[in-house]
Amino acid sequence: MKIAVFSTHQYDQDFFNEFNPGHEITYFVLPLNEQTVALTQGFNAICIFVNDTVNAAILQKLHDNGVRLIVLRCAGFNNVDIKTATALGMPVLRVPAYSPEAVAEHALALILTLNRKTHKAYNRVREGNFSLEKLMGFNLHNRKVAVIGTGNIGKAFCHILKGFGCHVSAYDIYPDAGLQAQGIVYGTLEETLADADIISLHCPLMDSTRHMINAQTLALFKKGAMLINTSRGGLINTVDVIESLKNCHLGYLGLDVYEQEANLFFNDYSEDVIQDELITRLISFPNVLITSHQGFFTREAMEQIATITFANIDAFVKGEELLNRVN
Ligand code: NAD
Repeated sequence: MKIAVFSTHQYDQDFFNEFNPGHEITYFVLPLNEQTVALTQGFNAICIFVNDTVNAAILQKLHDNGVRLIVLRCAGFNNVDIKTATALGMPVLRVPAYSPEAVAEHALALILTLNRKTHKAYNRVREGNFSLEKLMGFNLHNRKVAVIGTGNIGKAFCHILKGFGCHVSAYDIYPDAGLQAQGIVYGTLEETLADADIISLHCPLMDSTRHMINAQTLALFKKGAMLINTSRGGLINTVDVIESLKNCHLGYLGLDVYEQEANLFFNDYSEDVIQDELITRLISFPNVLITSHQGFFTREAMEQIATITFANIDAFVKGEELLNRVN
């Protein structure tokens, strides 16, 4: 197969080169969009990541250029117009589960850092400041944590929380019987949000979940609660969350994803003037911690992403059942 791989960094190329069974791969640093779709002429397949845009017009151009397969090297597929891909007869394959523990552990890292302020302590001690003023946190033991979406990642996160001695409640349109047997209590979204000290989002971004965290649902939160999002930025209405932080209702915010991240994340803008007023406002809060979509970024997850992506491509080439097909 001739495969065009978009939005690549050196680390993507290293893992793909290690696991490539012999396909002809061309790496593009650029994302796939209206401007770059012309580069796909002569390729059989494209491989994309979380912030590549694959709308109806781009799909039509991909098809005209001879592309017959869309391969996502991630779990979420909210950035692909699945209906149009299906109508054009182009299978969309993804990596449904690759080390869910990688993302679950990152959600925990955000919680522990926000709570115990280790990022601030690190900087203080490096400057010879050994004061504990304003570093006080709280015990996770016995805290109430709400998990929204208990699929692969949410489930791994529940298991970690149980180890910390947290009381875990959950909301999912399909409750998990195994988790219920382990003492995890499911409720409605409203009940689950209202009862928690920490809320962590692990459901996919779809029309039905877009901006599920908004002014109305934030008003249900306990005052001072912590919100963690390692799923997709669009689950949160950023303007509403900023308002809640300004009113000191939301107590902490930990984000690994951000609705407008496509224009920022994975790149170095340290010498540029950032024009996005929402992210600069978020960065200005002392109780907000942002990482740039690195939940997946462990050696184990990168190996699995490469292995499963090539298994998906090989199944297509051999005409086998496409187990990880989205459409
Ligand atoms: P999954 O499909 O295994 O689980 C998703 C769960 O959400 C399912 O149990 C599903 O029933 C539930 N769900 C669906 N609609 C819902 C709704 N309206 N309300 C509540 N729950 C709902 O997916 P996963 O592997 O656990 O991944 C979850 C999300 O994490 C992905 O969609 C992706 O966006 C994100 N993700 C982020 C990173 C990262 O690096 N930060 C990496 C991988 C995945």
